[in-house]
Amino acid sequence: MQHLQGIGVSAGIASSKAELIKPSLIEVEKKQVEDTAAEWQRVEAAKKTSIEQLEEIYQHTLNNIGKKEAEIFAAHLMIMQDEEFFGPIKQLIENNKCNAEWALKEVGERFIKMFADMDNLYMQERAADIKDVVQRLLRILSGTEKSKLGTEKSIIVAHDLTPSETARFNKKDVLGLIMEVGGKTSHSAIIARSLGIPAVVGVKGILEKINKNDELIIDGSKGEIYLNPDQVTLAKYQELKNDFLQEQEKYMKIKGSSAITKDGHKFELAGNIGLPSEVEMVLENEGEGIGLFRTEFLYMERNSFPTEEEQFKAYQLVAKKMQGKPVIIRTLDIGGDKDLSYFDFPEESNPFLGFRAIRLSLERTDLFKTQLRAILRASNYGHIKIMFPMISTVQELRGAKSFVNDAKEELQTEGIPFAEDIEIGMMMETPAAAVMSDEFAKLVDFFSIGTNDLIQYTIAVDRMNARVANLYSPFNPAVLRLIKEITENAHQEGIWVGICGEAARIPALIPYYVGLGVDELSMSAGSILESKWIIQQLDTSKLVNMMRDIENMDNTAEIKSFLEASLAKLS
Ligand code: PEP
Ligand code: MG
Repeated sequence: MQHLQGIGVSAGIASSKAELIKPSLIEVEKKQVEDTAAEWQRVEAAKKTSIEQLEEIYQHTLNNIGKKEAEIFAAHLMIMQDEEFFGPIKQLIENNKCNAEWALKEVGERFIKMFADMDNLYMQERAADIKDVVQRLLRILSGTEKSKLGTEKSIIVAHDLTPSETARFNKKDVLGLIMEVGGKTSHSAIIARSLGIPAVVGVKGILEKINKNDELIIDGSKGEIYLNPDQVTLAKYQELKNDFLQEQEKYMKIKGSSAITKDGHKFELAGNIGLPSEVEMVLENEGEGIGLFRTEFLYMERNSFPTEEEQFKAYQLVAKKMQGKPVIIRTLDIGGDKDLSYFDFPEESNPFLGFRAIRLSLERTDLFKTQLRAILRASNYGHIKIMFPMISTVQELRGAKSFVNDAKEELQTEGIPFAEDIEIGMMMETPAAAVMSDEFAKLVDFFSIGTNDLIQYTIAVDRMNARVANLYSPFNPAVLRLIKEITENAHQEGIWVGICGEAARIPALIPYYVGLGVDELSMSAGSILESKWIIQQLDTSKLVNMMRDIENMDNTAEIKSFLEASLAKLS
């Protein structure tokens, strides 16, 4: 048994065998085989798995992204059925008595070259499809398939995954996730949480230590990993898993009740989503609205920017599904760790401090306008609000608001209906905005505190960097002071304030937010009921002493243990 330590980013315990996702291209060696029929059988089996995967990806893309994007996988499926491609592979295995991988690579390269040499651009692009198909088959043959992702129950071990790769996980089969890189607020971690998959990140070098099918236990709260655990450890974790499930059952029991403290103060609990398909999870967990719709996920896993119509449909779908409950649509927040394959980002040494979010929207005003028009059009079908990410100056906010007015005027001229009184809010996620929150509060209808970024910018600690993750804490007194100041300034101007960063769902901090009078908390769907349970145990009149004690503390660890001890007294 081996014990490894990472950063726990999504609570829960999982035990299963490992499924490795290696990032590099598969290296292929030529080997002699005796039984060519068996070798061909391997190709047939890989082909079958590949077709199953592609059909699943096709459906998923069609349902969640769009028809045009789904067509890419339809083209891959056609290659899988193509005798002109598979015939020569079979021949090569039989004539050369070689292994399946080598035959596949040889024939694949021949086809790739043939397409790449064609004059027609469309045909040249088919070379990339063949490359993709060959890599998929090679991954399946070598047992390191990247896209299989759960036709069998397993714990996924990867160097890194894009947020959209994580979004494709199926909770039934992907029991856990381990990544070599990342931090608590990397977007893959956020998605793992919203899917309720236990996850540990920042485990350097793990791919060298683990083999496919090794037995693993992961504890997504503590960040612990056990490789090939002994019987005692297995039994201990089985018990912990049962405790965790029991705890979840306790939260299920309060379904149907409201998030009201013992002395009658009501708080709003909402859900964060990245795709329309996540709305069901929020409703199932009794989210009273969508506090953060991260629209950038609509821009991922595709080859071009989504059109106004495509975006309108997605926003309209969410608005309709939420049936009049508020839906806060955040305008595009791309950059940082969120990349687009079809957009040429500048090389930056600090992408989180660079060309990101509102900065990009105010430069690429064509994209911004398209998105604002789509949001406004959808506002006619539900209770939509607009929110701008990463505002750091008043001028940026004024600029962004003027584009909303331009879009409104355009729609008015075109006779297209929208909610004229649509509320406009901003993320409070830069220290500059927090310090100026008294001014900002005069210019917007609401604030939503983005603690993921507010923490990284306040403490100057990269949210993705495992090396400095010990510094990254939502209990940091400077961060808590900023949250307090933002809340007071919002209320001073009579606007409401929410928190939509990951710190919103941290149990020990919820009494602190309640004590401050934060109006709304928005989080991964899986945390809503637990947060509601905590709010129901609180009495605001009894929080006064606690709030004063915290104000007098200057030490992150001390604040954390103090708040955790206070929370423990509730149960
Ligand atoms: C945040 O920064 O807290 C936030 C909610 O935005 P994101 O995680 O998408 O940057
Ligand atoms: Mg942010």
